[in-house]
Amino acid sequence: MDKLHPCVFFDRDGIVNHPPDDAQRYVLHEDDLRILPGFVASLRLVLSRGYKAVIVTNQAGVSRGRMTQDDLDRIHAKLQRYLAAENLALQDIYECISFDDAHPNRKPNPGMLLDAAREHALDLERSWMIGDSEKDIQAGRRAGVAKTVRVKPLPAKTDADFRVDTMDELVDLLAQELPPVSH
Ligand SMILES: [Mg+2]
Repeated sequence: MDKLHPCVFFDRDGIVNHPPDDAQRYVLHEDDLRILPGFVASLRLVLSRGYKAVIVTNQAGVSRGRMTQDDLDRIHAKLQRYLAAENLALQDIYECISFDDAHPNRKPNPGMLLDAAREHALDLERSWMIGDSEKDIQAGRRAGVAKTVRVKPLPAKTDADFRVDTMDELVDLLAQELPPVSH
């Protein structure tokens, strides 16, 4: 049997890109995707330590009729092009377009992480989950990942293993805490 590979899972809005404002709620168009430099630096570090990287994102705006699947595909194609130009690559992007909180893939449920683990032979027990919402932290814990990181200033309460204020601080945390993958 092939060896399982550890992965760092990233939430999207607020982690990969500036979060949409409260009125908008969703990034609706590729022109509105503003990628955070701290994500690019974090991804570079994660890959250099030998991890795969996967984005897991709730995007209920599609099933709410705020955007089309085509819009979402364009946004993710733009992200992939941007990263390719930086010589970086994601293993995959998983999206849950359902607004049903009972959907197994809608965070805080762990379905997207479990699907990714099965489809890409990932070792959840050595993987990390990074997000700005407590739903991301819960999804990671339910999937059984090793460590979770909440990127949020002054949350009321978090079950995450680590917390930082900003994506720029995340780079420093990962540099200190993310163990290199031993093969
Ligand atoms: Mg988020």
